[in-house]
Amino acid sequence: ADKFTLLHHFEGFPKTNDFRLESEELGGLKPGQFLCQAEYLSVDPYLRPFSKRLNPPSTMIGAQVAKVLESKNDKYPAGSYVVAGNLGWRTLSVAEDQPEDGRSFTGLEPLPELGGLPRSYALGVIGMPGVTAYFGFLELCQPKEGETVVVTGAAGAVGSLVGQIAKIKGCRVIGFAGTDDKCAWIRQLGFDVAINYKTCADIDAALKEAAPKGIDCYFDNVGGMLSHRIRQQMNLFGRSSVCGAISSYNDKTGQGAQVPAPEMDIVFKQLRVEGFVNDRWWHRREEAFKDMVAWVREGKIKVQETVTTGFEKMPQAFIGMLKGQNTGKAVVKV
Ligand code: NDP
Repeated sequence: ADKFTLLHHFEGFPKTNDFRLESEELGGLKPGQFLCQAEYLSVDPYLRPFSKRLNPPSTMIGAQVAKVLESKNDKYPAGSYVVAGNLGWRTLSVAEDQPEDGRSFTGLEPLPELGGLPRSYALGVIGMPGVTAYFGFLELCQPKEGETVVVTGAAGAVGSLVGQIAKIKGCRVIGFAGTDDKCAWIRQLGFDVAINYKTCADIDAALKEAAPKGIDCYFDNVGGMLSHRIRQQMNLFGRSSVCGAISSYNDKTGQGAQVPAPEMDIVFKQLRVEGFVNDRWWHRREEAFKDMVAWVREGKIKVQETVTTGFEKMPQAFIGMLKGQNTGKAVVKV
């Protein structure tokens, strides 16, 4: 069995030599246990901040879709598949079930009902990023038909779903992404306007033109100065769902760029700005999965994956995702 060990905490941007590929011996199965073979592994932004909780050298954390090869647990028979957030960057793992009340995106469970969609989608649209987009947007932004929605990280796993859900709900949708190709893709998805935040010379003017009636909902994946600019054009009683702040994850200080304090925008516009972790709605994941499977099958939600092949490329895929080399969900096929 192969695994990646994180050798030390990241300093600034992760590097391939922060990791080491190692082999490990697995013991025999005890009652209740089963042997899992990774088929797809997920590289996600949260691994960067969450890795601070590890005590390196330590097996790198991360989610995977795996096939059960051998089993001493009737709920997970040989030949079935699981989605596991707790097995880390491993090709083979000895796993066990966990109590239902302890479930979260870092847990392990049978693959959800995918309605014929590819198994890798259990790491994306029918998985953690799907739950994040669905509840993080619908519950916290409470979008209404005709409202204007802004999404950052709009060509990524979560953002591309949020924008498409907003279109399904009848909103005007503006997305920010980091390349012209990504902007072209999200326009194909139905975004009304796509802005390349890296090359746009005047983001304030571009936003004003894109959102002449102001912004009602902001789904914030990036934080930092871009989010400050967007908040400034929000309407009275606007809602912002704060999902992540990837613009600061690789900052040595972890503080990100100096951004003006948001309080006075929040006070005078009476904004509701709320952060969340998808765990909050994990017990309701079936609701999201049911709608998402239907929307994907009906073509209302289009899905793209950036697939890296080869377990040995896990670090490159992770670093590439942080650098913006993925469009849609970044996954590794073993
Ligand atoms: P993505 O698929 O969006 O991949 C990350 C993307 O972030 C890159 O492709 C890149 O796209 C963009 N990016 C990188 N650096 C910057 C930067 N400095 N400024 C702006 N954009 C940047 O990842 P996910 O969809 O999985 O995650 C998106 C966000 O949602 C992250 O902040 C993540 O932490 C958060 N998240 C939060 C969850 C929660 O429960 N709260 C759960 C899941 C994700 P580009 O080319 O456009 O720059």
